[in-house]
Amino acid sequence: MNTPAHSAPRQLSTALPPRPARAVCDLSPYEATSSRDLIDARPAQAPLKLDWNESTLPPSPRAAEAIEAYLRRAHHLNWYPLLNSPGLVGALSELHGLPAECFLVTNGSDDALHTICATYLNPGERVVYAAPTYQHFLVFAQQEGARLSPHVSADVFTADPEGLIAAVRAAPTRLCYLVSPNNPTGLVYSAREVAMILEACPETILIVDEAYAEFSRESCLELLYRYSNLVVTRTFSKAYGLAACRVGYVMANPIVVRDLQRVFNPKSVNALGQLAAEAALRDQEYLGRVVEQVEEGQRVAVAGLAALDLRVRPSRANFFLVEVPEPARWVTALSEEGVYVRNRSHLPGLAGCVRVTVGSPEQMRDFVARCARVAARLA
Ligand SMILES: *Cc1c(COP(=O)(O)O)cnc(C)c1O
Repeated sequence: MNTPAHSAPRQLSTALPPRPARAVCDLSPYEATSSRDLIDARPAQAPLKLDWNESTLPPSPRAAEAIEAYLRRAHHLNWYPLLNSPGLVGALSELHGLPAECFLVTNGSDDALHTICATYLNPGERVVYAAPTYQHFLVFAQQEGARLSPHVSADVFTADPEGLIAAVRAAPTRLCYLVSPNNPTGLVYSAREVAMILEACPETILIVDEAYAEFSRESCLELLYRYSNLVVTRTFSKAYGLAACRVGYVMANPIVVRDLQRVFNPKSVNALGQLAAEAALRDQEYLGRVVEQVEEGQRVAVAGLAALDLRVRPSRANFFLVEVPEPARWVTALSEEGVYVRNRSHLPGLAGCVRVTVGSPEQMRDFVARCARVAARLA
């Protein structure tokens, strides 16, 4: 290696580089606020990382076993991954009872949302979404130059298929984005309600983001047999506990999948992620235990916070909202206790709300104890 380790940095050119694409100039850089830096800076404190809805429990041990076995093989890291994740697609097809042609495995479900936007949106076209919701989808839509049209119901905690249909039909709409259970409200749309939208809006692609469906045990998957304008996305980042591996997938009509493959990069799902996801998927017993732990953990948290006189909005996912008097102060005070949560109080309909990821019952007892200290301190 001949890197000059101690030489002073040289001056970078001060000439302005060419401008990005028009649609991109309208965006600001994604504010990546992760608690990871704070956690690493406070090694003495046991952290409760409850800000990004990652699993607080480890994934099935079979995931790491699959990676370890792979690393013992020749050419493990120098060859590109298998294209289109055939092993994982086979396992998904078995689990969900859908033909293999209905699946596209992606680099996290973010990559699925990005690919859908890149495939369907022309500049200036309209995208309707049920707000408040998962923010990152909006960046992918804006990147294509789409016009975003949020639909905010009178009550953001109640399903409003009629309102959403009216919003979609108010003007030609290419995409409609719905998250169920919704992040961060927890709102679930039933398959019957999703079918109403699909039926009333046949010209629009309806994306149903089911990132938390393993927890809610409710899905609109069966509607794929009746509607070709439905696209369902899932992820291994939440209930399966594999956020670091970046694996997600799309389920859709085979014609939609073929269209997505026009822009999708088949090398983008890494080899270790494919193997870990397939191994975790084949361990449904382990997944069931994680879901039970999270349900029990949520009961513990809800009861504990109610005893502190805080209003809680539970969900059928691994997070809930809690209303606190001064959310910004609460979030800061909690982080001083080593608890990292997400302030959502600026979003429509969510005044005072902080989002908390649910962990095991033991972790939630610890969380409630630290909340009690904060409540006493801020009183
Ligand atoms: C966490 C989350 C995602 C991102 O999942 P990845 O598979 O990690 O990219 C997508 N949608 C929603 C609603 C989420 O909450």
